[in-house]
Amino acid sequence: MPAIMKTKPAYGAELVEVDVPKPGPGEVLIKVLATSICGTDLHIYEWNDWAKSRIKPPQIMGHEVAGEVIEVGPGVDTVEVGDHISAETHIVCGKCYACRHNRYHVCQNTKIFGVDMDGVFAEYAIVPAQNAWKNPKDMKPEYATLQEPLGNAVDTVLAGPIAGRSTLITGAGPLGLLGIAVAKASGAYPVIVSEPSEFRRELAKKVGADYVVNPFEEDPVKFVMDVTDGAGVEVFLEFSGAPKALEQGLKATTPGGRVSLLGLYPRDVTLDMNNLVIFKALEVHGITGRHLWETWYTVSSLIQSGKLNLDPVITHRYKGFDRFEEAFELMRAGKTGKVVFFPHK
Ligand code: NAD
Ligand code: ZN
Repeated sequence: MPAIMKTKPAYGAELVEVDVPKPGPGEVLIKVLATSICGTDLHIYEWNDWAKSRIKPPQIMGHEVAGEVIEVGPGVDTVEVGDHISAETHIVCGKCYACRHNRYHVCQNTKIFGVDMDGVFAEYAIVPAQNAWKNPKDMKPEYATLQEPLGNAVDTVLAGPIAGRSTLITGAGPLGLLGIAVAKASGAYPVIVSEPSEFRRELAKKVGADYVVNPFEEDPVKFVMDVTDGAGVEVFLEFSGAPKALEQGLKATTPGGRVSLLGLYPRDVTLDMNNLVIFKALEVHGITGRHLWETWYTVSSLIQSGKLNLDPVITHRYKGFDRFEEAFELMRAGKTGKVVFFPHK
């Protein structure tokens, strides 16, 4: 079968022929119905410093997936042949201090599916049964594969009340776009999006942003104050990983408001903590991964509600992997929302 493999410790990846794997104890074999590219896959493709320290080629890439179980390994009793599943990517130990406090999302021994082992950019893939999440059979595979990053967005947006609350989202990359969809489905208003790329501002509007602003041309803090009659937003959701966006968002948040931070910063960030956080009595949440498994229930229900506007977020759909390099390069250039592959042509 064809698979996108990180074959060498260098830029890029290769489309190779490999055998269909056999599920071992505690594993299931799935036919991959849809699989999407995550920013992490891009880092592995680009071979950045993080990838160099973590990835051991040769390895099949990818972790966001929707598949049908076609074989189960010994000892698997939680999923059956014919089930449709997606995969939680954090493989947690269940034994550490965090796990024993039901904080599986911050397990201290987390292994990552598609990072620390072969992934799902292939026609068939192995998934650890403990990480399988059952999907309704009528859920579109292109939505089902988005559930893992949607979990990040749900934990960011729904870390506090949002219905009827003014909201600023900084960064409309794939994750910020999913965040807009979740915020709108949850009744946030108005949703203001700060994003420098014109292409992504247009996508943000299609997903449901009420206002968009280019922070490289206009002061987003003044923009937010104008829209909110000088009050600032109740909720600030940081999806960019840009230190400047963090500072602007904190300035644009109303005193006593709520802040959720998902974006990862390329370096240490310096902030006027006294005036931007403490004297404003902001409620600040760091967000990582997804809550197991509460967030998956929320994501699945949001998709089934029909209220999540995902179609404009999926900008590129590929049958097979033949044009995978084009897909990665477009994503690197910021010219995509989510990119989805359907491996079986
Ligand atoms: P991305 O890089 O595709 O998107 C970031 C967006 O922010 C881009 O569209 C960019 O144009 C925009 N941006 C840049 N500077 C800005 C500024 N000053 N103001 C507003 N917007 C600005 O990334 P993504 O895949 O959408 O992921 C978003 C962030 O979330 C990344 O930092 C990623 O590392 C992080 N992330 C965190 C977790 C977690 O568990 N905490 C999980 C996944 C991703
Ligand atoms: Zn643990």
